[in-house]
Amino acid sequence: MTQDPRKQYYHDDYPKQYQDPPGVQKYMNPQPDCGESSYEGTGQLKGRKALITGGDSGIGRAAAIAYAREGADVAINYLPDEEPDAQDVKEMIEQAGRKAVLLPGDLRSETFSRELVQSAVDELGGLDILALVAGKQQAVKDIADLTTEQIVSTFETNVFSMYWMTQEALPHMPEGGSIITMTSIEGYNPSPMLLDYAATKSTIIGFTKALAKQVASQGIRVNSVAPGPFWSPLQISGGQPGENIPKFGEETPETPLGRAGQPVELSGVYVFLASDQASYVTGHVYSATGGLNAN
Ligand code: NAD
Ligand code: MG
Repeated sequence: MTQDPRKQYYHDDYPKQYQDPPGVQKYMNPQPDCGESSYEGTGQLKGRKALITGGDSGIGRAAAIAYAREGADVAINYLPDEEPDAQDVKEMIEQAGRKAVLLPGDLRSETFSRELVQSAVDELGGLDILALVAGKQQAVKDIADLTTEQIVSTFETNVFSMYWMTQEALPHMPEGGSIITMTSIEGYNPSPMLLDYAATKSTIIGFTKALAKQVASQGIRVNSVAPGPFWSPLQISGGQPGENIPKFGEETPETPLGRAGQPVELSGVYVFLASDQASYVTGHVYSATGGLNAN
């Protein structure tokens, strides 16, 4: 039976809500759907070892649940304030019969970013999949109000940590390994209030395409994911101005499919890009935008 994509998942107005960043998914209403009760694996990542940043909530959590149910052991990174979400993800990875490793810490630190990868390699016994999902987004309407502190912090989180972790990970990754970075529709078609964030997301596209060419000779694939508006803690903790939340994905921005996406709608993309099914896919940006133009 087919389903109407406009009516799948939550498609009403969202209740107004705000949390200080990074936000905890457990306290959102409605809960983002990360596939907790729906994602079924078919053994596509059996025995693989994955590190996912931002794995506690939103799109990273959807990837963590899917990877575990596809047979992978999974380490997740998140900020210490997000421990309640991380504990829920740990439980779900373990329910799938896989090893869960929790590695909290701040990616703006080079020392921590490098140690994170080493800890994941040590605790998982190797590394096949590096999914860099963590990101910082704070909307500021006027460039005059954009602080140096925010510009630096957004670039450290979204861009610099990506270089540090990739440098640490590559020597451990086997042929057939997969790196997945996180860009956005903002990297192609930026919003006027996301001058710092959008610039990091364009940068990530350049990094991804260049790295894919560099490491193809090692048998490692590198791809990126470009979502449109997805319901997650990032959006209700300053990623959008508060007044945009009720019509998020419906009118602000107005997507052709008329609603925001739910993280589970990217689970398949994350599994595909990590798996052998994507053996001929590298240097590619995969979009899921509800019909908005992503490039
Ligand atoms: P989310 O809030 O669930 O995930 C973002 C995660 O980033 C947090 O869980 C947090 O653990 C992590 N993070 C932030 N700052 C950090 C730091 N300094 N150190 C360590 N971790 C840090 O929201 P999400 O929407 O699932 O976001 C995941 C990724 O998707 C982000 O890179 C975001 O830019 C990207 N994205 C989201 C959307 C969307 O509409 N939600 C659209 C396009 C791209
Ligand atoms: Mg989170």
